[in-house]
Amino acid sequence: MQTAAAVADFRTYPKICDIADVRVLEDQILVQWVDGRVSPFHHLWLRDNCPCTECVYSVTREQVLEIVDVDANLSAASACIDQGNLSLEWSGGHRSQYDPGWLRAHAYDDESRAERRAAKPHSQLWDSRFQLPAFEYKAVMEDPNALLQWLLALRDSGLTQIRGVPTEPGSLALIAKRISFIRESNFGVLFNVQSKADADSNAYTAFNLPLHTDLPTRELQPGLQFLHCLVNDASGGESIFVDGFAIAHALRTEDPEAFRALCEIPVEFRNKDRHSDYRRLAPIIALDALGEVAEIRMANFLRGPFEASVEQMPLLYRAYRRFIAMTREDRFRLVKRLNPGELWCFDNRRTLHARNAFDPSSGARHFQGCYIDRDELLSRILVLQR
Ligand SMILES: [Zn+2]
Repeated sequence: MQTAAAVADFRTYPKICDIADVRVLEDQILVQWVDGRVSPFHHLWLRDNCPCTECVYSVTREQVLEIVDVDANLSAASACIDQGNLSLEWSGGHRSQYDPGWLRAHAYDDESRAERRAAKPHSQLWDSRFQLPAFEYKAVMEDPNALLQWLLALRDSGLTQIRGVPTEPGSLALIAKRISFIRESNFGVLFNVQSKADADSNAYTAFNLPLHTDLPTRELQPGLQFLHCLVNDASGGESIFVDGFAIAHALRTEDPEAFRALCEIPVEFRNKDRHSDYRRLAPIIALDALGEVAEIRMANFLRGPFEASVEQMPLLYRAYRRFIAMTREDRFRLVKRLNPGELWCFDNRRTLHARNAFDPSSGARHFQGCYIDRDELLSRILVLQR
């Protein structure tokens, strides 16, 4: 028998190990697994996670129970293994059953937590020698497994290429929607990267564009950026990429004081035109709750004047100059010319991109781009993996 917990959130939890024994202690249950691991579960934790239909609405698989409505001192009246499941009866009479696959996947003993942390996807850092992961348009449009392989490469390395994309304007939207909703901005749903006389961004000129992330001016920078080449007859205009996480890691080792300054001192980025005025004050390097580098925010051409304390200003300049100098080092830079029918898709909160200057008199150049948030990528991966 499988309990509701086996498919608690539309995912199934394969049984890794059988439960060998259970013991009831004063405020917890000790589950001993056949492989020798012992996992304590507090009574409140188990009661909180009861998967029965009184506690979880079976249609949404969302909890109905609020743990505050349970006696803080509740205890298990009895515990046993019933057809492989952990089966409990509570002091108030409620009964709960836990699937061993689900229980093992959520155990919080030290060994289980360390194992889960180690199994989490880790960013694969890259440099100028990066073997660019490339995928075929037709395959990712038609084959869910090819789509998943592309999205995993995007999640883990932060830079991918798709080839064989139709060169009609708007084709980009079809492939972007294989992931999810496109994130609209003041530049449109799809934006056209062409040189324009009345440019509202340096992107829409023929200038060299230094390494940057897009929309650092927003509270949440777009997670993914697509750039699709429709026409590229102009000379120059090569794309350049660096792994912002790899640079941050190198900086952390080579100049820890500069690294800390970029994590701690906020910098303002601004984007303004006649109709809008976006501003965001945030550090250039953001860390996650575990202290790992989670985001880079950088576009020199959108940066406002630094406002740091008099004591910190020299350090901020030193750190900022060092970071940009590193983005110019050959060891980090991948330089490639994009041909018609090819597109870049990269993690805009990690991978910095740049463009060499091009000569608009030498031929036409037309790229289209769009954004999708990182959440949509991660959600699509989990759904494809079900
Ligand atoms: Zn229940």
